[in-house]
This record gives sequence, C-alpha cells and structure tokens, in this order.
Amino acid sequence: MRKIGHFIDGKNIAGTSGRTADIFNPNTGAVQAQVTMGTPDELDIAVQSAVKAQAEWANVNPQKRSRVLFAYKMLVDAHMDELAELLSSEHGKVVADSRGDVMRGIDVIEFACGVPQNQKGEHTMGAGPGIDVYSIRKPLGVVAAITPFNFPAMIPMWMFGMAISTGNACILKPSEKDPSVPMRLAELFVEAGGPIGLLNVINGDKEVVDAILQHDDIKAVSFVGSSDIAHYVYQESAKYGKRAQCMGGAKNHGIILPDADMDQAVQDVLGAAFGSAGERCMALPVVVPVGEGTAERFLEKMLPAIEGLKIGISTDPDADYGPVVTAAHKAKVTEYIDLAIEEGATLLVDGRGFELQGYEDGYFLGPTLFDNVTTDMTTYKEEIFGPVLQIVRADTFEEALALPSEHQYGNGVAIYTVNGRAAREFADRVEVGMVGINVPIPVPVSYHSFGGWKRSAFGDINQYGMEGLRFYTKTKTVTQRWPDKPTEDSAFIIPTF
Ligand code: NAD
Repeated sequence: MRKIGHFIDGKNIAGTSGRTADIFNPNTGAVQAQVTMGTPDELDIAVQSAVKAQAEWANVNPQKRSRVLFAYKMLVDAHMDELAELLSSEHGKVVADSRGDVMRGIDVIEFACGVPQNQKGEHTMGAGPGIDVYSIRKPLGVVAAITPFNFPAMIPMWMFGMAISTGNACILKPSEKDPSVPMRLAELFVEAGGPIGLLNVINGDKEVVDAILQHDDIKAVSFVGSSDIAHYVYQESAKYGKRAQCMGGAKNHGIILPDADMDQAVQDVLGAAFGSAGERCMALPVVVPVGEGTAERFLEKMLPAIEGLKIGISTDPDADYGPVVTAAHKAKVTEYIDLAIEEGATLLVDGRGFELQGYEDGYFLGPTLFDNVTTDMTTYKEEIFGPVLQIVRADTFEEALALPSEHQYGNGVAIYTVNGRAAREFADRVEVGMVGINVPIPVPVSYHSFGGWKRSAFGDINQYGMEGLRFYTKTKTVTQRWPDKPTEDSAFIIPTF
C-alpha cells in the first residue's frame, strides 16, 4: 500500500503518529493509498525549517523571487498530464476538468511572477518641509494554507504562489482526501530551484489544524473549506493573533429572466450544476426561472439535456462527470435527496441508484433535478455539493434578486438575460461577492481576486490578485527628513504640515 507522509525540508518523510486515513479510488471504491496524520511535533519541525528558509528568502530581491516562480510555472506546465491524471485518480473529476484545476492554479503563479511590479511601495516626496514619506510591504514570515478536497491543485497554488512571491514561507495542510497532488506540487517547487523549506507540506486533520492555529511562528492562515470549519478557523486565528482569510461553502443561484437565450442558459446551467459532480464552490445548484412560462421553457430543454449526460470513470474522455469523492460524501448527497422529497420538492430526475457497469462499487450518482423548491426547505438552505439541481420559481425580478441576496451563502451568482439594464441593476444590488452576467461560473481571473460574502467567507481580504498580495504583506510607513541644521525648539503639539 502506498504511504503518503509529509514533505518537509525538501524531503518526503514518513509520519510518526501511527494514525492514517485511507485514500480511495472513487471509480472503484478501492483503497489506493494511506495518508499519515501529522502531529504538533511534526508541524513544529516543518515550521522551524520554514522559519530558517524565510529569513533568507525575505532578502532575495523581487526579480529573483519572480525567476524562481517562473521556473516553477514552466515545470508545472510540463507536468500537466501527470498532475491531472493523479488529481483525477483521487478526486474523481474527469481528466479534462483536472487540467482546468491545475491551469487555474498556474494562472495565479503567473500573476505572482509579477511581484517586482506589484510589491513596489508608495512614495511621497515633500509631504512636509524637507519630509518624504514612503510605504513598503514586508512579508509576514511563515504562513499556513489549509485547503479543501475539491480543488487540490488550484487552491494550494492560489495560496502558496502569492505567499512565496511576497517573501513568505508557506506550510501547506491539504485535504486528507486527496493529498497526492499538493505533495507533488511541493516536490516540483524544489525541483524548479525553490529554496528548501520554503514550501513544506504537513498532512493531517483537526489535530494538526489546531496545532497550526496555535503555533506562535505562524503569522497568517489562509483557509478554504466548509463554512462551519471556516468560521472556527477564523475565530481561532483571531484568538491567537493571526491574520486570517477563511472561505466557506456556497449555494449559487442561476437567475433566468424571460428574455434570456434559453439554449445558452440551459447549456451553461447543465455544465455548472453537474460538472465535477457538483463538487465546486462556484457550481450552480439552484436555478431561478423568472416570470410566466420561463420554467416550462427551461424544463423543455433541460430534461433532454440531462438525459444526454454521460457519467463515467474519471479517465473516460467522453464522460461529462465522474464519481463523487468518497462513499461518505455519496451517502450525504443521497440523504439530501431523500430529505428534499420528504420536504415536498417535486422530483423530476432521480440520480440515486445509478450504477456504472463494471464499476458498481464506485461513488457514482446520476443527475438529480427538483422543481418547486421553496425557501423554507432545509435542502434549499444548505449546501448539498453533489449533482443535484433545484428549481426555485420566481414571479418577478425583485423576487429573484431577493433569493441569493437573502441566502446565508453569498459566493457566486449568475444572471441570464439580453437586457443590459436589468443585468446591470442585478449586479449592482445583489448581495453576493462574485457575479456572472451570461457567465455561469464567474471565478475571477488571477489579476482580480476571489471571495464571497456572508457565510461564504470570513475575513476581509480576498484570495489572489492584489488582495492576495495585501493579505500576505504588512505595510510599514517611513517618514523621513534630513535637516541641514537641528530644529531649535521641541514641539509639543502633533506635527501638522
Ligand atoms: P472541509 O471543511 O471538510 O475541509 C477543509 C479543510 O479543513 C481540510 O484541510 C480539512 O482537513 C480541514 N478540516 C476538516 N475538519 C476540520 C476540523 N474539525 N477542524 C479543523 N480542520 C478541519 O471541506 P471539504 O469537504 O474538503 O471541501 C468542500 C467545502 O469547501 C465545500 O463546502 C465547498 O463549498 C468549500 N469550498 C469553498 C471554496 C471557496 O472559495 N469559497 C472553494 C472550494 C471549496
């Protein structure tokens, strides 16, 4: 059985805890590896290695830091196929989608290569008589990245790309469900010439997360995962005096106005609801047809489109989506479907009981579609995170606008319409962090930044882009003067210029 330990100080090391978690092949249900659960002592070894590496790295000039990241980007590019296949084998998403996962991470590494330009400070000459003021952005030191199972390449790269480019060292704690790609990304960093110890990976669960939150030498925590854990990590980080950005769950709505191009809307919602088996925080699990007849026109096209979906193993190039990540996750999604029926939603397509011939023990779920979902239903209020699409009908634009705005989550939202004025008003007023206009999955490009509102994100600063740069640096402002003769009197009032 393949054992996955930790990656510390440039080496793969076996864990000492004796506690492990199984890594499954979601296509077959077989255990394919075991990952060790880290201990506070092992974390401390990783942090001490990072402290040492960071002290040197902070003095490396920005263009040299950029060159290391550029070499890394080229190496990750060259390993795209290997990484995508490894990612699919543990996560279950189809290989083409895994390539997208790696690519969206590479995008952020590319942005991070621009650090010489982006980390330049600000300077005001002559802010007072003979006085100049300048502000610089200093790295924080050692930071931690705690990541979820659903984007095991992209999200670690969002975090360590930005952290390392700005002069920090990073301790990465990946999901225990699919840690192989994060481990490989760290090996490649060293292979690309990255300093030893600057990127260490510690595997584990709550025990090691708590050790991260309490470690004095870790100055900031970047977290992505479910909302309750995100909130916990945010609160604990504050308690221990750490900066934190903690992204949580989501329930994104796709609003379809009566004038929308229905073919486009159906095609987009189909991919965004069922792609990656619905295991994306920017998936569209709720669709809101607005006005009379819109739901019927949507269903007329959506029902045959769902029937045409191909569910297959993650290496099947023709599959639209593969299995969900674990048997436990499959059971959880199935329970939500059972509950939605109990709550009175109309089941139009039932994905339970789907079996893929030859892969009967795989964690497959067919697509599920519910109509007449209402806002009082638990299955509407909570995140399901599976291939389940819920239709909530709205009579008016205002009603449709209120749905995502009043939901506990506020990650992403999409609106389909050809009316620019309506789209503009919707984008302006909706209480959600990322908005797509005729775009189903509006994950911002790397030079903007990613972040939801309400229970989808705790903390003020978004991931990547200039917000990411701010998260991983602290501002120092210097006010200087070089007088040619000493000032005669002491000033007892606050200086004003
Ligand atoms: P999760 O919350 O179970 O795990 C996330 C991380 O927290 C993992 O590293 C895990 O080991 C750790 N963890 C788990 N339980 C913990 C505990 N009790 N104490 C401390 N740490 C703990 O999330 P997941 O199932 O891996 O990922 C799916 C979730 O992530 C979904 O809710 C999804 O919406 C969300 N997500 C959000 C975004 C975003 O940017 N908003 C992006 C991707 C995924």
